[in-house]
Amino acid sequence: LGFLSKPVEKVLRVGTSPDFPPFEYVDEKTGEVVGIDIDLIKAIANRLGYKVQIVSMDFDGLIPALEQGQVDVVISGMTITEERAKRVDFSIPYWKADQAIIVSKGSSFKPLKIEDLVNHTVGVQSGTTAEQLLDSYVSKGYNINVKRYSSYTLAVQDLINGRVDAVVVDSPVANTLAKKYSVEVAATITTGEEYGIAVKKGNKALLDQINKALSEILNSSEWDSIISKYMG
Ligand code: GLN
Repeated sequence: LGFLSKPVEKVLRVGTSPDFPPFEYVDEKTGEVVGIDIDLIKAIANRLGYKVQIVSMDFDGLIPALEQGQVDVVISGMTITEERAKRVDFSIPYWKADQAIIVSKGSSFKPLKIEDLVNHTVGVQSGTTAEQLLDSYVSKGYNINVKRYSSYTLAVQDLINGRVDAVVVDSPVANTLAKKYSVEVAATITTGEEYGIAVKKGNKALLDQINKALSEILNSSEWDSIISKYMG
């Protein structure tokens, strides 16, 4: 009867796009997906009695994966927007961010605002608020050549190789990229974004549990240690 004593382990399938340090990225030594978001969702899952299964995919595939039931939650530095909130439900916010323009280190091109990107090629990850920001300028008539990538990793590679003149990315990620790679932050664009954890539309039971655990964690020293582990 040994099998009867084995506890049933509930699994929380977590969708993320691990190209967004310090929130989610692949540890070069272990090959594991790590970061603030990963530790945060593990802390939440731990409180709720779940084991976490990380499911990596491109950012623009995350909301479809939730809708199709391939994952239970998405945590991926995802900004809470009205448009997205029509398709998924968001937790309370856990982080504030703006956008930033990064260029390769020592570049003579020093954009200070989005308008300065006119007549330049600018890399961005598909499906992000950075892409929406650039597209809104293009539709107002600004001649910005927006180059879309499936991941920020590829966009930053092209920036370093000189295939794009700049990349627009969330400000906390820009600061981390500037520490890890040969890139620098040229400008910050205030957008006042807030990150949330997403669940399938209508999954109130899971969302309520997540919100309760999340607010507890945000007010605990556990949260401070997660942040200093990745940003310290
Ligand atoms: N915060 C941005 C968004 O929600 C970028 C997220 C990301 O690239 N992981 O679109």
